[in-house]
Amino acid sequence: MNRNGVSLFASDLHLSPDRPATVSLFLEFLSGRAREAEHLYLLGDIFDAWIGDDDDGSPNTEVQAALRAVTTSGTQCHLMHGNRDFLIGRDFCRETHCSLLPDPTLVRFDGEPTLLMHGDLLCTDDVAYQRFRRRIRNPLVKRIFLWRSLKARRAVAANYRRKSGAATAEKRPEIMDVNQETVARYLRRYGASRLIHGHTHRPADHVVEIDGRPVQRSVLAEWHPNQGEVLVHGPEGWHREPVHTHPNP
Ligand code: MN
Repeated sequence: MNRNGVSLFASDLHLSPDRPATVSLFLEFLSGRAREAEHLYLLGDIFDAWIGDDDDGSPNTEVQAALRAVTTSGTQCHLMHGNRDFLIGRDFCRETHCSLLPDPTLVRFDGEPTLLMHGDLLCTDDVAYQRFRRRIRNPLVKRIFLWRSLKARRAVAANYRRKSGAATAEKRPEIMDVNQETVARYLRRYGASRLIHGHTHRPADHVVEIDGRPVQRSVLAEWHPNQGEVLVHGPEGWHREPVHTHPNP
């Protein structure tokens, strides 16, 4: 198959047992469109929660098997942690043959330095969240959490999701978006002329000016039960492509 140097980007699928339609949409995408690409970049929050690679509940096993089938078919899969699935670890990567990208990662497309991020690092107006992020990503805190039984970890995750929903509802919408100065700081530090990220669920293509030069900031879309979206880079440049469910014949 001529994969033609096509790269696909997606994030914020929030796969969970409560969202079977989104899970099937993603599985269908992995067995179809994803195999026509050379690279698949999954930029975080693929799962709505990830409590350890030993969690063999649904939909984890199906999704891992499907990812492994995609990488076996020849598509290189690159995974970045989101704020909800940052505990995806080595076993997951070994199982699926996905590579784990640090956040941020600089990649060149058509020679153009492109910065890939999940996006939560850019939301610096949400000071409480950034503090929380630093605390839970502390290696010791992670290790202590992973030592606990699956049952205990599931309870913590359920509790966290309830609290996070309530906290998000209370926050002003502005502080949930990226901070423009933080965006500029990352773009300068990496010398990037394009930025791709998810997390905010505000899909759009923005042009920001950094030191007199235009930089494109593409925000990836959140996936819904019957509608997903990927950003595509191919020989014709960049475009967005909807991902639909194909009804069974
Ligand atoms: Mn996120």
